[in-house]
Amino acid sequence: MRRIYLDHAATTPVNPHVAQHMRDFELQHFGNPSSSHREGQNARAKIDFARAAVGKFLNAKPQEIVFTSGATEANNLATQGVINYAVQKNKSKPHVVTTQLEHQSVYNTVKELEKRGVIEATFVKPDKNGKIRPDQILKAVKKNTELVSVIFVSNEIGTILPIREIGQSIKGLKPIFHVDAVQAAQFYNCNVEKLGCDLLTLSAHKIYGPKGIGALYIKSGLKLANLTFGGSQEYGKRPGTQNTAGIMGFAKAIELLGPLENRQDQARKISTLRDLLIDNALRIKNVELNGPTGEERAANNASLTVYGVDQDALMTALDLAGIAASTGSACVSGSSVPSHVIEALGKIGQADAATIRLTLGQNTKPSEIKSAVNILTKIIKQLRR
Ligand code: PMP
Repeated sequence: MRRIYLDHAATTPVNPHVAQHMRDFELQHFGNPSSSHREGQNARAKIDFARAAVGKFLNAKPQEIVFTSGATEANNLATQGVINYAVQKNKSKPHVVTTQLEHQSVYNTVKELEKRGVIEATFVKPDKNGKIRPDQILKAVKKNTELVSVIFVSNEIGTILPIREIGQSIKGLKPIFHVDAVQAAQFYNCNVEKLGCDLLTLSAHKIYGPKGIGALYIKSGLKLANLTFGGSQEYGKRPGTQNTAGIMGFAKAIELLGPLENRQDQARKISTLRDLLIDNALRIKNVELNGPTGEERAANNASLTVYGVDQDALMTALDLAGIAASTGSACVSGSSVPSHVIEALGKIGQADAATIRLTLGQNTKPSEIKSAVNILTKIIKQLRR
């Protein structure tokens, strides 16, 4: 049976050019980039090149890029780094503004620090269409707010948040502005100056690169407390021998995304297929879209609530029929805890309802969308019987 992969928000297939590039690098440049001999310095030069490429993508300086083990670590370094630095400096309880649309790596970190009594936190709530306005963020900012952390594109329901406007509205105020741009990088402008952010997170495996490598943009001069301690790698901000092949693959994946116009073209093409999928899925009785429509929705995301169907039964049936989809977000699937994002839309409490997320990629074909819609329609009918 031919599989239809519709879970690109969970991860993307590695581009063959990226895989080849990493393999070549791994075989030729095994040196430790911190070693002073030629093998080490060759590896070091390649990392410098990759750092410059990631910097250019964000309109940042190379030395403002810190490579991490992925976006989860980068988000922890950003949030905990700002909070712990503020606690050490001010010896008082900082306040954090974030949203109910965040990925777990921000949401659970802020929740945990709130539970431990380290911070006060405000989680800005989306409206029923999953949207958040800049004035909601501004209103939440208080005298002791040290950090504002906002996701650029929701990995679950596809909302594109008004990051630039949020950046403008809090400009000149005290808080550090962090943006989780993991799901935005493949389609949208991540120019840190235009966004007005101080910290920004990326992950390679969402842009056809390898898993286990990400980056945090840290604006020059910004002080963060370290998460880990050790050597002086990554400007002392992220000690440990670098994942050199991963870094090379990350830079290659960024290069292959091409200039912004290419990414915008991709977004337009994919969003046509996304709308074909959404329009047809909404023809099925008692199926609702989660999140906004049109331009305010990520080009590749279709998140649906299906009433009258058991979540696990639907996921299993889709998988058996050849479709790789996910519940709200891949990170919570397999757990019985409801997603905080879907909960924020007020959709939980419906015992007999399933949330599925179908996310398209560069290679998704119209024929696959047509098949997926037919299969989905048939399975929902069968399960409701
Ligand atoms: N933020 C967002 C918005 C994500 O979608 C993900 C991955 N699901 C992460 C952070 C975590 O990324 P990683 O897998 O690189 O830790």
